[in-house]
Amino acid sequence: MKCTAILLMCISAIVCVQAQEKHRQSGFYQVQIGEFNVIALSDGTVPVDATELIQNKPAAEIKKILEEVYLENPTETSINCYLITGGNKRILIDTGAGSLFGPSFGGLLVNSLKEAGYQPDDITDILLTHIHKDHSGGLTKDGKAVFTNATIHLDKKELDFWLNGGKTVMASDNSMSASQDNFDEAKKMLAPYLKDGRVKPFSGNQLLFPGLRSVATYGHTPGHNIYVLESKGEKLFFWGDLIHVGAIQFMDSTATIGFDIDKSHALLQRRKAYAQAAKEGHLIAADHLSFPGIGRVRAVKEQFIWVPINYSISGRTK
Ligand SMILES: [Zn+2]
Repeated sequence: MKCTAILLMCISAIVCVQAQEKHRQSGFYQVQIGEFNVIALSDGTVPVDATELIQNKPAAEIKKILEEVYLENPTETSINCYLITGGNKRILIDTGAGSLFGPSFGGLLVNSLKEAGYQPDDITDILLTHIHKDHSGGLTKDGKAVFTNATIHLDKKELDFWLNGGKTVMASDNSMSASQDNFDEAKKMLAPYLKDGRVKPFSGNQLLFPGLRSVATYGHTPGHNIYVLESKGEKLFFWGDLIHVGAIQFMDSTATIGFDIDKSHALLQRRKAYAQAAKEGHLIAADHLSFPGIGRVRAVKEQFIWVPINYSISGRTK
């Protein structure tokens, strides 16, 4: 190949990368919760076909609701992670999909972290809401731990399920979670941390750090937890996968998704969380609500509505 042709290819590749960079959104958004700074970090987005994901609602009805709120199906869906900083801790909640959704979707967590001014080595602790690939996929790259100084915390039930025979429990289950790939990937993602003794399971509701506690919300997965940060009278609940398709599941809390392993408990946990959030007016941060996924919930008759946080250049929450 002639030099000019190679040069042209290089230039067009650079222009293409620059165009992608130019049009990429900022990957972080910060809020102040009492004495803590919380930074929403984008891992990117992934197209989700809501008619396949939500299994107990007619496809035509789902499409109609999405059209009413100007969304296409498949819908571009956020994958959010959250960093809590305060004292000498930098605690990450969930790690996104890493490379497990392929090169085009997800995997931007480390870019967003650096954009916000932190390096992977700065992370002291990681709290996993659960082990599904879009929450644990960012832990490991090419068999090596991405977060070299972090200790992983997660519910013991979750760890046992994915590492020790959960597949057998689900032999007759039709959940989308039941595929062998999910179990293999879970093991791979945790392997370097387990090898180094950097996985610390906890049991149910615990105070994990000053101002930060876990709340068992088993259903979506057998050890799914949400986390609650509380400081100086302010509260932020990290919901993990209590909700996926905001446009549908706030107006209809009975809409369950294919990845909910225990659908009836997932539904109960979701309703309980909605009711508490609407009653208390506390802030929510949810992994799959439109980035930054931070807002509040209001009850209107039998339904709930999502109220996204007001944009604040300084991180105010009201
Ligand atoms: Zn998820």
